[in-house]
Amino acid sequence: MKALKQKGDYQKLNAVAFTEVMMEDAFWAPRVKAHKEATLKACIEQCEKTGRISNFDKAAGLMEGEFEGIFFNDSDVYKVLEGVAYSLMSHPDPELERKADEIIDKIAAAQQEDGYLFCYFTLKDQDKKWTDMDKHEMYCGGHMIEAAVAYKQATGKGKFLDVACRVADHFDATFGPGKRHWVPGHEEIELALVKLYRETKEERYWKLALWLLEERGHGHGVGGIWDRADWGPVYCQDDKPVREMSDVGGHAVRATYLYTAMADVAAMTGDKGYMDALDRLWDSVVQRNMYITGGIGPSKHNEGFTEDYDMPNDTAYCETCASVGMVLWNHRMNLLHGDAKYADVVERAMYNGSLSGVSLSGDKFFYVNPLLSDGTHHRVEWFNCSCCPTQIARFIPSIGDYVYAVSDEGVYVNLYIQGTGHIRVKEGGVKLTQTTNYPWEGAVHITLSPLSVTRFEVNLRYPGWCQSAALKVNGVSVEDYTVSKGYIKLIRDWKPGDSITVEFDMPVERRYAHPKVAANAGKVALQRGPLVYCLEKADNPFDLKNFMLSVGAKFVTEHVADLLDGVTIIKGLGETKDEQFVAVPYYAWDNREPGEMEVWLREKQKYALYK
Ligand SMILES: [Zn+2]
Repeated sequence: MKALKQKGDYQKLNAVAFTEVMMEDAFWAPRVKAHKEATLKACIEQCEKTGRISNFDKAAGLMEGEFEGIFFNDSDVYKVLEGVAYSLMSHPDPELERKADEIIDKIAAAQQEDGYLFCYFTLKDQDKKWTDMDKHEMYCGGHMIEAAVAYKQATGKGKFLDVACRVADHFDATFGPGKRHWVPGHEEIELALVKLYRETKEERYWKLALWLLEERGHGHGVGGIWDRADWGPVYCQDDKPVREMSDVGGHAVRATYLYTAMADVAAMTGDKGYMDALDRLWDSVVQRNMYITGGIGPSKHNEGFTEDYDMPNDTAYCETCASVGMVLWNHRMNLLHGDAKYADVVERAMYNGSLSGVSLSGDKFFYVNPLLSDGTHHRVEWFNCSCCPTQIARFIPSIGDYVYAVSDEGVYVNLYIQGTGHIRVKEGGVKLTQTTNYPWEGAVHITLSPLSVTRFEVNLRYPGWCQSAALKVNGVSVEDYTVSKGYIKLIRDWKPGDSITVEFDMPVERRYAHPKVAANAGKVALQRGPLVYCLEKADNPFDLKNFMLSVGAKFVTEHVADLLDGVTIIKGLGETKDEQFVAVPYYAWDNREPGEMEVWLREKQKYALYK
């Protein structure tokens, strides 16, 4: 097992990489399989078909022709390669690896003498290099770095990482204190440079990330976005220095990538200004701007934020990438603070707003994830701007990253997924084996296998959605457990074969929006465990728009193995007797014939306002 503690880290917890986590459950394992068999295949084929890969051949001079597609299309190839790397670690596949090596050869060939690598300017106009801060040169570089680090970890091959280091060295030689100013219009490079530091231990990489963060808010930004009256510096989080930020604004994906990088750098430096800003931003996003699905960014216009509590359902943008960004950022916040409330958001965004971005078959995608549809919104095979499919390509095989964390005192179980985790704790190793049918059932059985009797903490996340839980250790009820920062804390001398059983009550819950959310006045959403539910026309032949749930309606749940790859449905009665409704998990919607869908249901009030 790898040493987990990074020297100089100020975070409370350390990550346990997905390479140490095996998922053997009925929920995620089939999705990882669909990812390997369908998502990766589809994304590679599309990258080939749309010229995204041949752009590298052309930039390398191996092929004639002009740049094809959108200027940041290189990033899609990198994100797919990152997904390939994660997939190879759990599912070795020599043919897939050979394909990846082939693409990496093309990428390496396209790199210029000084390390510059960005097909758009190489092919279009060399003189325009580094002239527009929103042309995503560093954004693409960041995605390359993430892919190269993953590929090195998966295969041990260093070629891609060498290319990525030369790209980072080129950035470092061109920008920084005493050199040129630069504000990347789309954040990504910052978090990638911290990753590159962790892989190579080259201090200058994370220091460049810190410098890039510090560049914001000082008027250095130049380019198309900054000149647009309706967008300006707010759009790309360049309106104030990061330490002074309090309210989320601008483009949603960019915001989450920025906050993720700020959390990474705060973990390196312990900078209180960064930590305080992150806490304020978290309140702003999670308390005032997050949908029940974990989605963020209500507006199509700026792919981002408008005003607090502005949360329309039908026009909700909720880009798939922004939900994944919430997972990335909240994972870092959980490590930074050791508080389960951030893992609650990881879970919410993961099981709802992120997973809805891909079909059950793995080869159709949503870019936009509304909470209400008149039946015209469908997943498609690809987009001209295809950030979301390639985001899914790298996200699904990496979810093992979010299951566990570890501190000097012990282990943290953040997600309940059947399978095993190998964690280094107190100079020894412990294997945790989870047996559970989560998220359909709230019972989780954990067997601990330390090498020898060891005293350490086991911290179990007490999910934010859960009202009561019963706990047993080695079959004996524990009534007086304490919950600290959202974790049930158990400190003992653990011996091989010890077990913990926890049953989280998982009834159907009625959820209400904040009263300031006008779109949801008089409405209710159904949630069970971590899953948000919706009504789809396919199960509900009546007019969904006029459907009304009565206050006293009782709910019945039933697991239906042959529906939507196996889901637990919620059944109940609406206001009129002929409206027996069936609700299905939101992530699974639009996998059948097209039709209306709604998450927020009108609710018949117990007392009429006027009598
Ligand atoms: Zn996207």
